[in-house]
Amino acid sequence: ATPTSIMVGTGRAAEMGVLFRRGDALQTLRDAEVIALDKTGTLTLGEPTLAYFKTSEGFARNEILSLVASLEARSEHPIAEAIVDAARRDGLPLAAADNFAATPGFGVAAMIGGRKVEVGADRFMARLGHSVAPFANDAERLAREGQSPLYAAVDGRLAAIITVADPIKPTTPEAIAALHGLGLKVAMITGDNRRTAEAIARRLGIDEVVAEVLPDGKVEAVKRLASKGQRVAFVGDGINDAPALAAADVGIAIGTGTDVAIESAGVVLMSGDLRGVVNAIALSRATIRNIG
Ligand code: ADP
Ligand code: MG
Repeated sequence: ATPTSIMVGTGRAAEMGVLFRRGDALQTLRDAEVIALDKTGTLTLGEPTLAYFKTSEGFARNEILSLVASLEARSEHPIAEAIVDAARRDGLPLAAADNFAATPGFGVAAMIGGRKVEVGADRFMARLGHSVAPFANDAERLAREGQSPLYAAVDGRLAAIITVADPIKPTTPEAIAALHGLGLKVAMITGDNRRTAEAIARRLGIDEVVAEVLPDGKVEAVKRLASKGQRVAFVGDGINDAPALAAADVGIAIGTGTDVAIESAGVVLMSGDLRGVVNAIALSRATIRNIG
């Protein structure tokens, strides 16, 4: 492609809300064979709400939800916001948390009113030595519906199962179908529960799922997809997507996401609408083809 054609191509892209930050991105995007997308905030709205809350026998709902929300009030994870909002809506009091500790990709813990409260994924409970087997049926059923299961332990005993639901963006199904229409393979990379991720992938017709990835494991996930000799474009929005955006053949950041993600990407979408990815690829093909 000539410099002029690339200028025309990138100019047309800008009109469609797609910003090419790197000169070579138009060509690398044209050559992409796999589009790997982050789930939370990219395929989904990234605004989870509390969907289900059930306590173990001997634990009172409001008391446990109040403890859990008091702990989550200290966390900045979107899951935390969903739980705090639910407790507020129910008019439950929040107490101060001491010795707060967050383990990225696992969960959070603190002392609330002299009680030890721990909230997180099943792998967090496993690490703490709390069996989640009593909630196995609930977890499986709700994850199959696309909800993300979490657990709470109070003073070392499993106290509740909690699920949050993060709706798929209304434009995502059309975007995925269009990517398939362009002959691309579509993959999802997420830190979320495997069953939840698979349920959402099935709903969207996504071909491959890499789930339960730790916050610093997305690069490895991108490399694993690339190891099959396919050129990989990665689409993400979060801080922990930045290394994968840089490692992919081409990184596509969502402009409504974090600054670090944007700075690591070759392409930036001005909105969270994934049809922008489709436009960018279609345009990259048209531009390069026209020049030969
Ligand atoms: P993602 O946001 O894609 O789920 P993260 O790496 O941020 O990925 O978190 C992985 C998992 O760790 C979450 O899905 C959740 O189960 C658990 N987790 C992380 N932070 C919290 C938190 N503040 N409260 C409860 N669970 C958490
Ligand atoms: Mg995200």
